[in-house]
Amino acid sequence: MDPSVLTDVLDSVRDFIRTEVVPLEETIDAEDVVPERIVAQCKEMGLYGFTIPEQYGGLGLTASEEVRLAFELGWTTPALRSLFGTNNGIAGHVLLEGGTAEQKAQWLPQLASGEVTASFGLTEADAGSDPSSLTTRAVRDGDSWVINGSKRYITNSPVADVIMVFARTAPDAPGNRGISTFLVPRDTPGLSIGPKDHKMGQFGAWTADVHLDDVRVPADAVVGGEDGVDKGFLTAAKCLAHGRLHLAAVCVGMADRLVHETVEYAKEREQGGKPIARFQLVQGLVADSVTDARAGRGLVLDTARTFDDGSDMVSGPAAAKYFCSEMVGRVADRAVQVHGGAGYMRGVAVERFFRDARLFRIYEGTSQIQQVIIARDALGKAARA
Ligand SMILES: Cc1cc2nc3c(=O)[nH]c(=O)nc-3n(C[C@H](O)[C@H](O)[C@H](O)COP(=O)(O)OP(=O)(O)OC[C@H]3O[C@@H](n4cnc5c(N)ncnc54)[C@H](O)[C@@H]3O)c2cc1C
Repeated sequence: MDPSVLTDVLDSVRDFIRTEVVPLEETIDAEDVVPERIVAQCKEMGLYGFTIPEQYGGLGLTASEEVRLAFELGWTTPALRSLFGTNNGIAGHVLLEGGTAEQKAQWLPQLASGEVTASFGLTEADAGSDPSSLTTRAVRDGDSWVINGSKRYITNSPVADVIMVFARTAPDAPGNRGISTFLVPRDTPGLSIGPKDHKMGQFGAWTADVHLDDVRVPADAVVGGEDGVDKGFLTAAKCLAHGRLHLAAVCVGMADRLVHETVEYAKEREQGGKPIARFQLVQGLVADSVTDARAGRGLVLDTARTFDDGSDMVSGPAAAKYFCSEMVGRVADRAVQVHGGAGYMRGVAVERFFRDARLFRIYEGTSQIQQVIIARDALGKAARA
């Protein structure tokens, strides 16, 4: 994207978030819903399709451009980002990475405009960190596939128009082989969505179970067509790597906001007749959080660069997600500490961010799974050398 156009996009998103969304954060948390007016504005601003190529109506941001947008999004409730996170991220990328020309032409313009919301259905009750053990099964029947199984914690499924369902198509293939991805429209008979999950935080972002009971889809519902049969896991891995870099950048944005809240409070709050900002032990907490946030920003920008040039699309995103999700947890914890008792109270921003931040260490691969990916890459390279 032309640098001046990108600057305009970033400026308008920053302005929208700080003037329109931040004042609504407490209401979104309390009522567990993002107001329709905000959803409509996100669609108008192109936020449902910032990673989707321009030929399909999206903004077509590179990873280096996208992370700068995600720094802005991280400033406010992650429920905002979650509205369009699946279209730009894990679900939309399934089509970008593995879709046929026809599938891209049919779905990507609708995803980019926000007319359609997509979900990514990989996790199951007994297949989380190791999705290769998934048991949802699709069986070929003439020109159709018949899918049976259940998915767990699927983001945006309560509002999804289409779900990218990962199912085993070759029951005897070992591990992650023999898995395919299916485009399943919401209104397909046999597809049902469970009640919304009651989560710890990130209220306004919804997840639920997805049940598939003899769901029949045509043969061309396989992402990638006939060539995509049994190749869904590779696509999932690519989508998750991209998603991890995006989430790392969101964590940096949230850390910046937490530093801002910490500094503002330390300036105002007085003990013993002077602002707590004058106490060196409080300054130490602030300094550690500023340092953490800066380290995260540097890591994300460098990782985006090597993602864009193709030199590291696996270990780098895992390292960025691992460091930044742990980092924002530390920053949120210090922010609560600097707020004292107030930091433990509902209605205080840092209390909410403390709950919201916790999820980043869990979804799209836990911290332990990122460690496994990073170590496997480093040790594999060493073994080959
Ligand atoms: C709010 C929310 C939204 C989500 N959205 C989606 C979505 O849209 N689509 C989707 O498909 N999934 C989604 N998920 C699922 C999410 O990706 C999984 O919860 C996550 O990958 C962890 O899987 P699990 O919950 O089964 O935990 P488990 O895999 O059971 O892990 C439990 C613990 O064991 C550790 N562990 C597991 N395996 C290993 C290992 N090999 N080495 C070391 N430690 C290990 C884990 O790190 C963790 O500490 C979402 C989850 C949540 C909470």
